[in-house]
Amino acid sequence: MKPTRRSWAEPFKIKVVEPVRLTTPEQRLRAIQEAGYNTFLLRSEDVYIDLLTDSGTSAMSDRQWAGMMLGDEAYAGSRNFYHLEEMVQKYYGYKYLIPTHQGRGAEHIVSRVLIQPGDVIPGNMYFTTTRLHQELAGGRFEDVIIAEAHDPASEHPFKGDIDLDKLAALIREHGRERIPYVSVAATVNMAGGQPISLANLQAVRELTARHGIRIILDATRVAENAYFIQQREPGQQGRSIASIVMQICSLTDGCTMSAKKDALVNIGGFLGLNDQDVFEEARNLVVVYEGLHTYGGMAGRDMEAVAVGIEESLDDDHIRARVGQVLYLGGKMREWGIPIVLPIGGHGVFIDARSFLPHLPQEQYPAQALASAIYLDSGVRTMERGIVSAGRNKETGQENKPRLELVRLTIPRRVYTQAHMDVVAESVLSVFEGRAAVRGLRMVYEPRYLRFFQARFEPL
Ligand SMILES: *Cc1c(COP(=O)(O)O)cnc(C)c1O
Repeated sequence: MKPTRRSWAEPFKIKVVEPVRLTTPEQRLRAIQEAGYNTFLLRSEDVYIDLLTDSGTSAMSDRQWAGMMLGDEAYAGSRNFYHLEEMVQKYYGYKYLIPTHQGRGAEHIVSRVLIQPGDVIPGNMYFTTTRLHQELAGGRFEDVIIAEAHDPASEHPFKGDIDLDKLAALIREHGRERIPYVSVAATVNMAGGQPISLANLQAVRELTARHGIRIILDATRVAENAYFIQQREPGQQGRSIASIVMQICSLTDGCTMSAKKDALVNIGGFLGLNDQDVFEEARNLVVVYEGLHTYGGMAGRDMEAVAVGIEESLDDDHIRARVGQVLYLGGKMREWGIPIVLPIGGHGVFIDARSFLPHLPQEQYPAQALASAIYLDSGVRTMERGIVSAGRNKETGQENKPRLELVRLTIPRRVYTQAHMDVVAESVLSVFEGRAAVRGLRMVYEPRYLRFFQARFEPL
């Protein structure tokens, strides 16, 4: 018999605490000016509650910290590599493991191995680093996510699904020779942490198998995706998160993983593969770019923490509390009439900045302006996911203008309490009430790649 649980309350208690600093409005104004109105350029010491990202910001468990002491720092053949390999095989089912320093290391390698110049890579919405590595390898990303994903008000339960007609049309147009793989993300970060359904993934598998096209999974948040399948997809209730994750992976040919998300570590990643020839190519490249194939840029202790973290990430009680906290924050904001992306995603709450600040045109970076305003109000750090993140078109040099103009409140795993979530919701409400006074921004410095990380702005 399963124990009965009424709330999403965390299945852990707190053993170590890290003090955070409260700041004055004057201190925050100085800090955001120095940061060029880009929350990525704030010093963490000037931040009270940090919802910039859930990447590498998880609190590790006592078991993970104990694992760090078991680091085998041999250059070759570390015991921790074999433990990690065993966990990847056991929980994700891939035959071969290539460790990398983080997710983009895996993206770099798989893109170089599989993509030829002129290739087209369909996927369920782009992710910044994933698409950039596909482009640097000479490929072009084509978005085949369902239309509902671009509509912040649509309550489709699986906004990460792929539009099968669009995918079939791309295959007809370019042929399997020009499509090395379909890039499937679970969940879809840029759509607001929205899941793909098992049924849709199965249909994508059938279609691609007919043409001999691979599927490479972005498994960064696959446990959170599995939770939504368990909660929402007909016939999936009562299944364990671990068994759903295993099934998702079994429908794909390999994965890139940023272990800094689901897997509850501060650094690490890997490439999981089933094809021996692809694995051998990837193993050749990892030595050039990351490190020997039995550490790939991670210390032995880091690999141990990932190995333990994978197991913890697939625990049903963990994932229920993790997503439960996100739903709690989003539910509050929704109740108060703040425009957010629905349904609420797995790793964060996404504010619809276009509806929040209707007086600001997209050229004035409304989501960037809103993230600054929230920081100024309370010291809560969020980030832009809109026109700044979307960058410029490679051919025309024009700014890409995504339909979604979002501010992301990303919740680190096992770090903040319910009271912190209340502070966040109340701060967003106070900015919402004074939203008419929020001014747009002008970009005064623009880096060439991934400009959202380092761009600088001034208020208009
Ligand atoms: C973070 C992330 C990546 C890249 O991983 P890093 O570890 O940051 O290099 C890739 N895909 C998704 C969906 C991510 O969220």
